[in-house]
Amino acid sequence: MTAKTVPVATFDLVIFGGTGDLALRKLLPGLFRRYADGQIPEDSRIIGVARDSLSDDDYRARVSQALAPVVESEPGLQPRLAPFLLRLGYHALDATRDEGWQAFADELQAQGERIRVFYLSTSPGLFVDLCTRLKAHGLNGGQSRVVIEKPIGKDSGSAARINDAVGSVFSEGQTFRIDHYLGKETVQNLMALRFANILFEPLWNSNYIDHVQITVAETVGLEKRAGYYDTSGALRDMVQNHLLQLLCMVAMESPAAMEADAVRDEKLKVLRSLRPIDAGDASQLTVRGQYRAGASNGGAVPGYLDELSRLEPGRTESRTETFVALKAEVDNWRWAGVPFYLRTGKRLAERVSEIVIAFRPVPHSIFEHGAGPVVANKLVLRLQPDEGVKLWLMIKDPGPGGLRLQHVPLDMSFAEAFGVHQPEAYERLLMDVVRGNPTLFMRRDEVEAAWKWIDPILAAWETLRESPKPYTAGSWGPGAAVALIERDGRTWHEEAG
Ligand code: NAP
Repeated sequence: MTAKTVPVATFDLVIFGGTGDLALRKLLPGLFRRYADGQIPEDSRIIGVARDSLSDDDYRARVSQALAPVVESEPGLQPRLAPFLLRLGYHALDATRDEGWQAFADELQAQGERIRVFYLSTSPGLFVDLCTRLKAHGLNGGQSRVVIEKPIGKDSGSAARINDAVGSVFSEGQTFRIDHYLGKETVQNLMALRFANILFEPLWNSNYIDHVQITVAETVGLEKRAGYYDTSGALRDMVQNHLLQLLCMVAMESPAAMEADAVRDEKLKVLRSLRPIDAGDASQLTVRGQYRAGASNGGAVPGYLDELSRLEPGRTESRTETFVALKAEVDNWRWAGVPFYLRTGKRLAERVSEIVIAFRPVPHSIFEHGAGPVVANKLVLRLQPDEGVKLWLMIKDPGPGGLRLQHVPLDMSFAEAFGVHQPEAYERLLMDVVRGNPTLFMRRDEVEAAWKWIDPILAAWETLRESPKPYTAGSWGPGAAVALIERDGRTWHEEAG
């Protein structure tokens, strides 16, 4: 059985940056699937905005091209493509110039009052211009919502400036700061596992959990994002948002209800309980890496600096980290003494995002030596590529003969168990924006608390001036990341268990 799709109210969704990578690769395919599923009412409109001068039909042709792989992989959606394209329109506008904005506002207002979503899928440098012009044309009324993408700043100060600018136009209740990791099925399931079962919660603390690992590994390299990535690096690009949000979902207390502020209050407490890392312990608790040439996805690939110099001729050096591993501690009663090991990087051995809850070993083994070791239980929540949950248990080797023990997973792959398309994170989150449900979006104070923890690490790295440690593309990162966890007598989880 699968969850029932409940249609949302009619809306206009404006995608600023409607011709960009995020819009064409994620947002529009997500909207198409929701439309095909009957969740989007027929009189809703999706309006792409960018500077390029395109007609509605040009834009539809571009979107149709972007949706071709979706239709190819799910041929049942084909009959819904033409009606979906009719829901699309295009408006050429420059965020930084006034021309055309009045006509754009008139076009939107001609529909009368309805839910209006403004998705800022542009560089953050344009957020202030966009919000200012939306306000100047009266488009920030009570039925309007704004969605902002990461990166929300590059430190506390710049994040506050973006939040102030957006906040002077839209109220906090109208502002949806998206972190698509929170829309993933497995993250939702973490809430269900923890708070809809009696089994886990009594064990969910330092008495029974030895440590937690969070890995977000990518096989891709720099791709076309050199300009942005080289000024950002893995800590800002991935840890400040995705990994810390996942950490919060694991570590938070039970909210009083599944309501936006109740959930976000609990996440905020976790962020505020993170033990600061500064120049005194950054070398011990963090590892920065940068990939060198190697092999990925079955082929030879260049190193980061080679890719950078191809995209930015003349560049021969960079201290930007493409990998980071760190050991975090949550200083509260539940988690005292339980390390959270986080790692993320580009050009790693496998594309995988997972959370591993490693339980403590049993206090005493009653089994003879010949039965084999009693391995501690693990709960592994996989966010990608195939979402699912595995609970690693000890069982007896099946069959006659002596009692030998085996460590095996109770394995639930969501795709296999339910045999349906798992909605992409953006699909769920876009519908939540229309419904005005901010539970899975970051509140301003959460973003700021996350930066408050990240800022001293960035400052420590600046003080230490250490170059990132090289690692071969296609590996699991620098040896120092292995040493980080092995120093504590633990190892990174690998699927062989
Ligand atoms: P992109 O491919 O560079 O697209 C940028 C879009 O903004 C284009 O449609 C561009 O069209 C438009 N644009 C640029 N300057 C403009 C202006 N002055 N006025 C109006 N429109 C303008 O960028 P992206 O990869 O889609 O990323 C968009 C945002 O999402 C960024 O903040 C990025 O960090 C974030 N993000 C992206 C991804 C991803 O997977 N791509 C993932 C997470 C977050 P014209 O040049 O024709 O105006």
